[in-house]
Amino acid sequence: MNIQTTSEHNKMFLLAKALEQADDMVLITDANGIIEYVNDSVTHKSGYAKSELIGNKTNIFKSGKHTDAFYKNLWDTVLAGKNYRNVIIDKTKDGKLYYADLKITPLLDENKKVQNFVATSTDITKRIELEQQLKKLATIDGLTEIYNRYKIDMSIDVQISRYKRCKEPFSLLMLDIDHFKNINDTHGHNVGDKVLKRLCRLISNNIRKTDKIGRWGGEEFIIILENTKEEEAFLIAEKFRKMVCEHKLEDKYSITVSIGVAQYEELESKEDLIKKVDEALYRAKEKGRNQVSG
Ligand code: GH3
Ligand code: MG
Ligand code: MG
Repeated sequence: MNIQTTSEHNKMFLLAKALEQADDMVLITDANGIIEYVNDSVTHKSGYAKSELIGNKTNIFKSGKHTDAFYKNLWDTVLAGKNYRNVIIDKTKDGKLYYADLKITPLLDENKKVQNFVATSTDITKRIELEQQLKKLATIDGLTEIYNRYKIDMSIDVQISRYKRCKEPFSLLMLDIDHFKNINDTHGHNVGDKVLKRLCRLISNNIRKTDKIGRWGGEEFIIILENTKEEEAFLIAEKFRKMVCEHKLEDKYSITVSIGVAQYEELESKEDLIKKVDEALYRAKEKGRNQVSG
């Protein structure tokens, strides 16, 4: 062996070692997607032994979380000799799902024909879960688990934009618990919290899929009724009012709610719409509570 080939050999040896011990998962297939090589990270992550993977197709990792179109796009891209990058959900041998940041590079021969595919991926499950948690924190109210004020405020903007585009009517309900202070004063703040949670669950379970409920303030809620005019909004509000006063929340603490109703009108700003529904709620309180008012 001459000096030249020894140094080439050493280089190859070092490269192979680096690949083997890389934190990233590295997998090489032939042109048909049959696995020819996996490094240690792949076996650690997937739970499969090398012998179980080599000779198998990469669909061994298929999680069932993507559509056929997703995989078709992946294969169309790499078979055309282009690089592919995406976040993919894969499955380990014992059925655990994980998110991977996947890059696939086709290796072409001198005739530009695909010879192999090299796939490198990193497990980004923790990052994705963190992002999901942050998204939840930003949009969901911690106590009641319905949308928070920020999210409901944004959703009203979305409805107004939709109105501008296609004139689809929508209405708001503003709902406030009557004499809620009494519940806190009589039974304590913890019971008050439980009552709030139960009320939100009751309403959430009874709104249409397209409607949204959010916590606007302490014990004050806004419900956005998509594609709904005022007359229908009144009927829905009345249904909620009745439902709450007939339902014994926490089995013993009965409450009633007052509800304001308002339909969005052409050229109205979000602030004006909210003011209008707030004034309607005020009238419902004025009329003696446990009322619906426009
Ligand atoms: P009204 O019929 O006029 O609405 O009377 P109210 O006592 O319900 O008065 P208001 O709407 O001003 O309610 C405010 C009360 O809601 C006082 C406050 O202690 C209670 N509250 C607000 N947020 C929470 C919360 O997160 N948990 C509990 N337990 N109570 C809350
Ligand atoms: Mg109240
Ligand atoms: Mg209030």
